[in-house]
Amino acid sequence: MSNKIVVVGSSNIDMVIKGDKIPRPGETVIGGDFFKAAGGKGANQAVAAARAGGQVSFISSVGNDIFGKEAISNYREDGIDSRAIKTDPEHATGTALILIDKDGENSISVAPGANNSLSKTDLEKASAVIQGASVLLVQLEIPIETVEAAVQMANSFDVKVVLNPAPARHLSDQLLKQISIITPNESEAEHLTGIPINNFEDAKKAARILLKKGVETVLITLGKKGTLLTTHNTSELIPAFEVDTVDTTAAGDVFNGALATAISEGMSLKEAIRFANAAAAISVTRLGAQPSAPKREEIENFLINHYQ
Ligand code: ADP
Repeated sequence: MSNKIVVVGSSNIDMVIKGDKIPRPGETVIGGDFFKAAGGKGANQAVAAARAGGQVSFISSVGNDIFGKEAISNYREDGIDSRAIKTDPEHATGTALILIDKDGENSISVAPGANNSLSKTDLEKASAVIQGASVLLVQLEIPIETVEAAVQMANSFDVKVVLNPAPARHLSDQLLKQISIITPNESEAEHLTGIPINNFEDAKKAARILLKKGVETVLITLGKKGTLLTTHNTSELIPAFEVDTVDTTAAGDVFNGALATAISEGMSLKEAIRFANAAAAISVTRLGAQPSAPKREEIENFLINHYQ
């Protein structure tokens, strides 16, 4: 059986200014430092899966601009098969403008650009890529009709679907019943079920609602507490690893990428979650999204040194 992963999702460029204060409307603030970084949940998860040792193909859409070209060249460097990434001649690469003040508070504006043009037709063109995979990993930063088409296609080819329902939005029961593994964080789980997650009992309740809708396995990620695994037979917490946290940006993305790799290799659910918890724990000890995703060797060494 194939152990390939196909990620269908967003690709963005993040433009960040970290300064003293965020300007009010009409105000200009001079000062601070600028940096740019590759982002987008789809891309972050594809990179995390590839670094964790997965054989990854990425289906996405970028603009015909310098950021799009740079993004594709970075994915290739990470060993990601980027042949199914579309270059949209009409829209710019998705861009996030991020302002961070001295207290770490942020203000973010995202222009999805080319991400919004990733269509069902693009997926049909890449259907062989989906057919040849064992796992489809998808998030919600592209049009919902495209997510639905990808999931339906994966089901028709017997490809396991992992859905990271981020950013939170309403999902139809028809979509949910085609999902093998769903991975909401606490606020996404609340959005999907209406249950505010304040403790494990709440998380279990929310997970059971999702199971009733036909999802096979529910993994609610609970930040530094770990991941609650719920199926029809079990509900148990797989604890997070204790680390010195520097930046939790993209912890969820690294978790999902590494999880897809582990599942594609046939690890059991518990082993796969432990592997993904470890990758995410390493990522929170480092700054940034894609730069913080660890390589396979680091994850394996971490697991040897943090036996639990
Ligand atoms: P998101 O980033 O989507 O909000 P979470 O905060 O739930 O998602 O984090 C996803 C996973 O990352 C958790 O299940 C856990 O394994 C790991 N993680 C997150 N924060 C920490 C932390 N402070 N220490 C160790 N692991 C963490």
